[in-house]
Amino acid sequence: MKPHLIILGAPGSGKGTQAARLVENGFKHISTGDLLRSEIAKGSELGQKVSGIISRGDLVDDNTVMALLKANCSVDKVSYIFDGFPRNIAQAEMLDAELLHGRKTLAVYFKIDLGILIDRVVNRRTCGSCGEIYNLSTKVPLVADVCDKCGAIGTLKQRKDDNREVVANRLKIFAETVEPMLAFYRSKGVLVEIDASMQEKDVFSELETVIS
Ligand code: AMP
Repeated sequence: MKPHLIILGAPGSGKGTQAARLVENGFKHISTGDLLRSEIAKGSELGQKVSGIISRGDLVDDNTVMALLKANCSVDKVSYIFDGFPRNIAQAEMLDAELLHGRKTLAVYFKIDLGILIDRVVNRRTCGSCGEIYNLSTKVPLVADVCDKCGAIGTLKQRKDDNREVVANRLKIFAETVEPMLAFYRSKGVLVEIDASMQEKDVFSELETVIS
């Protein structure tokens, strides 16, 4: 079995896009942001509890997200790509102690200048039908308002937390929390860094090299 991949990177660094592509290489993609948004869409108790936190760009508490993650993955049979988890050192320790229990893992840091990310995230659009990610300035659909991947019409949406003010808060939190996580995985000898400012296809081929 391949190692579980833990993708670390700022909002807009390309984690979700690359993780979706890696599914074709036999990994299963799990995004705690997607799980939380789906709870909000369902209107569940959990969704109601986290909706305000997410719309401000703050972090949901560690135990709540960990419980949601545990309920949605079973790490024995398939190698996961963890996207959006961990978000701080406490979550990195919990992931190891409560879910992975020392299983083989590789942490990949998508390194990029944070200064370019606000515009990138504000221009991001996601297909509400299949989840394909676009960018209004760098990756527009071939036919306006039609998803290249699934053909759905008029489904491209902007996430509510992808506005300038909230993205600035999300980036600030990322900058404050990333170093201890990098040190944690570096000390275990499982950290690799990728230059996430490269073109999408080049990031992907580097990722393939790293995991092979
Ligand atoms: P993402 O889709 O990864 O950008 O996450 C969207 C939002 O969901 C974040 O800004 C947080 O509010 C929340 N969130 C996602 N993952 C986590 C996590 N591991 N810990 C705490 N909050 C999270």
